[in-house]
Amino acid sequence: MMSSWLQCSTCGEQVAIESLGACPACRHGILEVAYAAMRDKDATVLDTPRQGSGIWRWQGLLPVLDGARVPISLAEGDTPLLPGYDLAPNLWLKYEGKNPTHSFKDRFQSVAISAAVALGKTRVVCASTGNHGVAAAAYSARAGLQCAVLTHEEAPAAHVEAIRQFGATPVAVPADVRNDLLRKLVDAGWYPSTTFWPMPVSNPYGVEGYKTIAFEIVEQLGKEVAAVAHIFVPVGGGDSLYGIYKGFHELVLLGVLERLPRVYACQPAGAAPLVAAQARGADDVPHVEIDRSVALSIREADTGGHAWRGLRDSAGVAVPVTDADIMDAAARLGGLGLSVDPASAASVAGALVAVRNGTVHDDGPVVCILTASGARWPQPQGWPPSGARLAATSADQAYRALVALTG
Ligand SMILES: *Cc1c(COP(=O)(O)O)cnc(C)c1O
Ligand SMILES: [Zn+2]
Repeated sequence: MMSSWLQCSTCGEQVAIESLGACPACRHGILEVAYAAMRDKDATVLDTPRQGSGIWRWQGLLPVLDGARVPISLAEGDTPLLPGYDLAPNLWLKYEGKNPTHSFKDRFQSVAISAAVALGKTRVVCASTGNHGVAAAAYSARAGLQCAVLTHEEAPAAHVEAIRQFGATPVAVPADVRNDLLRKLVDAGWYPSTTFWPMPVSNPYGVEGYKTIAFEIVEQLGKEVAAVAHIFVPVGGGDSLYGIYKGFHELVLLGVLERLPRVYACQPAGAAPLVAAQARGADDVPHVEIDRSVALSIREADTGGHAWRGLRDSAGVAVPVTDADIMDAAARLGGLGLSVDPASAASVAGALVAVRNGTVHDDGPVVCILTASGARWPQPQGWPPSGARLAATSADQAYRALVALTG
């Protein structure tokens, strides 16, 4: 009997495991991996011998995939949950910068590229503002697959260099042809390890990797505490929020969690499709016009309906954050020894707004997902302050100047 398969989240049709994109039956539903264990409420799946490390400890709750070198792993996952100290009472930071290529996209690509191998694919394509492309390049290299990354024109140079370092091909493509080019490549047999047209439909295997963030949080907080948590996620296309939500939801179906923690979406005020959907009480997420934002990784005109479903089902809220909120949060995180991608700082910015305005009104823990390290990102002007130069001709004078600087 099959333990996992692919099905449509809208019409329920079970589809071939190589189906990627919208549902081939109803043409618009999002495909997702379904499990016999969830259908049968069989919690013994959690006792599956835990092989490997990181996300693959949860093999019983990940799709069954076969192939050479599978699972394709670089020891992603098992990231720390650090106390946020005086950021806010009972606030926790899930630091995804600790992943092998420094972002939570490694969880996604580990499963997505494992699926590519199992499906016999040899060429991978991905469209990315940075982190996604770096992770796709690394896992494709690990699997021995070719990889092309359609980069965003504003992608920081360090990301493009990292993609090249993993032997992949980064190419800058004008935004208006990117989606059609992706479609052509997919039609020609390339494996889309990414969100693609019709936007935003995701790779159904990749999002399974994000579930492990939920599993780890439950392990780290304990199930009673996790059930009443407020989880803040920086959301762009929405796989992030949906994947984490799906992880919690499956633990509810298995009877491990008594209820769903609330999952909140943090989006830049000038690029916030979920905030717009919430304001209109809409069932579908509208396309929005977008402004510039320091949080390039989550600056999207479209967020998927799957994320909207996860947010509403968990009684979460979409929180808009300004660039000023984001930079302030990044500076505070720097003060706690953490360098983050500006998009990651949006989760803390959103949590602080929600705590301040009473959206979070009980004492359940607040967990912010710091989705990526800041190592590859040029920091916004003015932060961190550039180093001072001590104009001193003696150690004595330098000593006094340094003491004055450090307060
Ligand atoms: C990709 C990304 C996100 C958002 O993920 P989506 O699946 O697009 O919602 C958040 N933060 C960082 C750092 C990212 O790279
Ligand atoms: Zn369907």
